[in-house]
Parts: sequence; C-alpha cells; structure tokens
Amino acid sequence: MKIPFNKPHFTGREAHHLSQAALLGKLSGNGFYTHECQAFFEKRYHLHKTLLTTSCSDALEMAALALRIGPGDEIIMPSYTFVSTANAFVLRGATIVFADSNLQNPNIDADQLESLITVRTRAIVVVHYGGIACDMEKVMQIAGKHQIPVVEDAAQGIEATFNGRPLGSIGTLGTYSFHETKNVTSGEGGLLLVNDPALINRAEIIWEKGTNRAAFARGEVEKYEWVEPGSSFLPNELTAAFLFGQLEQLDDIQQKRMQIWQDYFSRLSDLATAGFIGLPQVPEYAAHNGHLFYLTTRNAGERDRLLSHLLKNDIHAVFHYLSLHRSPYYNRLHDGRDLPRADHYASTLLRLPFFYSLQPSEIDRISETIHQFYK
Ligand SMILES: *Cc1c(COP(=O)(O)O)cnc(C)c1O
Repeated sequence: MKIPFNKPHFTGREAHHLSQAALLGKLSGNGFYTHECQAFFEKRYHLHKTLLTTSCSDALEMAALALRIGPGDEIIMPSYTFVSTANAFVLRGATIVFADSNLQNPNIDADQLESLITVRTRAIVVVHYGGIACDMEKVMQIAGKHQIPVVEDAAQGIEATFNGRPLGSIGTLGTYSFHETKNVTSGEGGLLLVNDPALINRAEIIWEKGTNRAAFARGEVEKYEWVEPGSSFLPNELTAAFLFGQLEQLDDIQQKRMQIWQDYFSRLSDLATAGFIGLPQVPEYAAHNGHLFYLTTRNAGERDRLLSHLLKNDIHAVFHYLSLHRSPYYNRLHDGRDLPRADHYASTLLRLPFFYSLQPSEIDRISETIHQFYK
C-alpha cells in the first residue's frame, strides 16, 4: 500500500457548519463564521485582533500594506522559506535582504540580524519552520533597539509557542495558513494577527477593499467610503464555516499529530546518534506543534538516493525549499552573500509523510525502510 505524503483530515463537523452557513443566507465574507473563527483564536491566544484571509500569502500581503512597505525599503528574512514570505514584500517594490538559517534548525540565525540592518530596513520577517519557534527574544530585542517592525510568518505555527507565548502573537503582525497541508485547513485560507493595536484600523480597511465598511457595519460611521488602498482579502462564509468545523476538533488533531512526531523521533533517533542522519532540534524555549517531520542527510546525493529508495517502497517523501537567494527570479537581485546553511537545508532536508490518519504501523514501515537504506 502506498503511503501518501499528505492526506487532508475531515473532522466530520464541516458539513454541519457548511449547511448552517447556507441557512444563515449570507455567504460573502465578514459574517457569522468569520467572526467565530476570529474569536476562536482571539480568546484561545488572548490576541488583540485577527482577520481571516483567503490565504497566508494574502495575510502576508496585508502585512506589507499595513506597514506601508514601498520601493527602496529593505526587508530582512530567511532565504530558506516558502516564496510567499518574499512575494508579499517584492510586490510592494521592496528589496529583500536574505539571512542565513542557524545550525540547529532551518530558522533564521538571529545572531546575524544586527549586521544586516541598515537605515533602509523597514521590517524583519521570521519564519517558524515546522512550528519550531525562532529565538524571538533575540529577534524582538534587536528589532526594538532599531525600532523595526517584526512580521512572524507563522504559517506552520498554530498551537506552537515561544516561552509559552503563541507563535504569531509576538511580533508586530503574524500570519497563519489553513492550506490543505497545514494542521487545520479550509483548503486555502489564512489569518492575520494584528498585535500592534495602532494597526488594527488600517488592517481592517485594507481587508475590506480600502473602505471603512467594517466600522460602518458596527455603526461606528454613517457611511462607508474609500479611505486607503486595499483589496478583497476576506474569504467567503463557506470557507470560514468549514474551518470552524476543524477548529472545534483542534485538541484532537493536535494530540494525534504530536504522537506521530514523537513516534518518528523515537524510531529514528538511533540513526541520528550513529551520525547517519540529522533530526529536528527543538530549543528549550520552543514547544512545537507536530506540523511536519524532517530529517537531514549527510549530502545532497544521499538525500536523492534516500528519496528514491522510499519512493520505490511506495513511500512518498518530499524535499523543499530551494533557497530563495538562488531562485531564478531573485538570484540576480541578491547581494551575493553566501548563505551556506540555507543551502545545506535546501540540499539535504527530507520531509516524511505526515497526516492525521497516518498509522503507527505505517510509521514503523517508513522507519524500517530508512534503516534498511543505511544498513
Ligand atoms: C504554507 C506557507 C505559506 C503560504 O500559505 P498559503 O496559505 O498557502 O498562502 C507561507 N509561508 C510558509 C512558511 C508556509 O509554510
């Protein structure tokens, strides 16, 4: 039997909420289920304000708009990340200053930040890879010293924490993804966390096509007007209703995923001890969320051979990301600095199948197949 890389999980609650949404008769955005989803996270994580979006990519674009990023601005972010992290700022005409990953895990190396800051730096974007927190104390301390806003791309980070604080809630702005590959999903979907109260009004206007319609709906203004540049970043109520059906079962989903992560870790740790592979290192300040499981190989060739060995045994593992500073689009725009650790993860990291219904017997089979490869 083939083990796929991902399989979307249905909690069984989605259909009920979808038909409720239809019965309520309002399918456009910012309705009952949008409020339910936003309130879910605001209460659970004690957040000022969240806005449900059509994707995490869109939430990142909203962040760039909310911070008024424009041509000439420099944005510091890791090279080892998904393209959306960079696109949001490149679309506003900004220049990306790529930082390297650290040795422990693919997250941004906070010790390098200071040397990358110039008078043009307008934001630091961190990515919590695999739901494992970046060193936010160091990041916030450096950003605070230079008064630079921090955006947390916590696309993979719901339910994970840094020293007990939810990822996405620490920087100026944070973003979550509800893409099919994430812990909870609405197919496509995202959330913007507005942690700086001074940005709440602007963020809401950007979300509602540049109008003050949300304030109008609350009776705060007499008519709604075009007050800023914005777009349509809100999902329809069906998307929100589906997501709510997932959020109701969040604790169950998380319990399962944490178990899967632990099972992988304990079954593969002997290979790590023997020096054949690298496994995720979770710093003391981080509590992860069982988003994904990866290993690193000793070199690129070995990763390719392991990948084909797994595929030959009907196990669908994948690799990602290709460092953005080497991408066809950005390599000629990059300032030329070497980013060896980003390259290291890009060429040696392998992600194993990870989804709610992955069985212990399947994890056994995957582990045995990897052991067989190293024998
Ligand atoms: C998944 C992901 C995104 C994009 O999320 P979408 O909801 O698909 O737009 C952005 N950044 C990171 C780090 C991701 O893992």
